Amino acid sequence: MLLLIPGPVQTRPETRAAMAQDIAPWDNDFRPVYAGIRDRVRALAGGREGEHATLPLQGGGHFVMEAALRTFIPEGGKVLVPQNGAYADRAVRLASAAHRQVVALPIPDTRSASAEEVGAALAADPAISHVAMIHNETGSGIVNDVEGIGAAVRAAGRRLILDSVSAFGALPFSLADHPEVDAMLFTSGKCLEGMPGMGFAVARVDRLEAAAGQAGSWCLDLSDIHAHALRAGWGSIRFTPAVQVIAAFAVALDLYAQEGGQPARLARYRENARVLYEGVKSLGLTPYLDWADQGPVIVTVHQPADPDFALQPFVDALKRRGVLISNFWNTHAPSFRVGCIGAVTPDDMRMAVAAIGGALDELGIRDRAASAEVREIEGDPGTQSATKRA
Ligand SMILES: *Cc1c(COP(=O)(O)O)cnc(C)c1O
Repeated sequence: MLLLIPGPVQTRPETRAAMAQDIAPWDNDFRPVYAGIRDRVRALAGGREGEHATLPLQGGGHFVMEAALRTFIPEGGKVLVPQNGAYADRAVRLASAAHRQVVALPIPDTRSASAEEVGAALAADPAISHVAMIHNETGSGIVNDVEGIGAAVRAAGRRLILDSVSAFGALPFSLADHPEVDAMLFTSGKCLEGMPGMGFAVARVDRLEAAAGQAGSWCLDLSDIHAHALRAGWGSIRFTPAVQVIAAFAVALDLYAQEGGQPARLARYRENARVLYEGVKSLGLTPYLDWADQGPVIVTVHQPADPDFALQPFVDALKRRGVLISNFWNTHAPSFRVGCIGAVTPDDMRMAVAAIGGALDELGIRDRAASAEVREIEGDPGTQSATKRA
């Protein structure tokens, strides 16, 4: 089965095989593996030794996102969230539930947030200390302008928490160039092609030290994870971790380096996305994003206007052809989503396009373009009103 979802991703057999062992997390053979992962991912993040530290956290992306929001934003503090997709919605919910004040900046889910919009929102409210932003919005496939928005946050003297969960390892970004970033967040099971189960923050040491005690949680306090490492060593982990996931992640990082690291991985994912995007268009389907806005991680496609189309039967028909995609969607307008990340190649994508065509034929879906009505609803409201005025 070809797993085409944006996490957990299809993995290599060597990575999965590393899980087939019993491991004591505190064992002296395992501690260097764990400490080595911390060093390697800090380097991948462009972090500097002594200035940045890797804080692993059991669980997934939501856990480490909540931990970062709690750790760096004091209770009652204010955070701006550029909101152009499902994962930004989740950041809003996590921050609100942790009693941080959220200022949402609504943006259509078909384009990036802009540096100007973020700069204006920060200028309008000096009480906002942080921006929490999604690097690659996995809901739609949009890549937000981290360089421009990072510069705007820096110029305004505020701080950035970057959810890089579906970007890290594929999209370029260096903490060395971004002193405004308190923490960038990612997980073991996305573009680094490990198994799911561990979250990571690479964070500034000075900010971790300044944040001691404000998380309002022990489990979700990144500064406590840092303090623990200083006390007990970088090979030591608080509480029982998903230790087999960590062992597999070390192998996944080896394979990542062998492939050629970030540039090679991005090139493979981009080609996966291109084959898929052109393939679905050739089948008469309508991609959700313009090609200029299409990121390399996930291709989202409008559900066909044909009244006979329903998502679950389509997913089932695809599965019978050896391709598994999500049976839900995360965009404003109804869509289906196909992941381009994981241990999959452009040839796999060609096979997936053929399977999509076969599934649509089997289900008798002839009217495959998105209905014009749907496209108008999800379009940029700003553009629409400008058009009307003109
Ligand atoms: C997958 C993802 C998450 C959350 O991951 P979980 O491991 O499911 O908690 C957070 N942010 C983004 C952008 C993601 O793609």
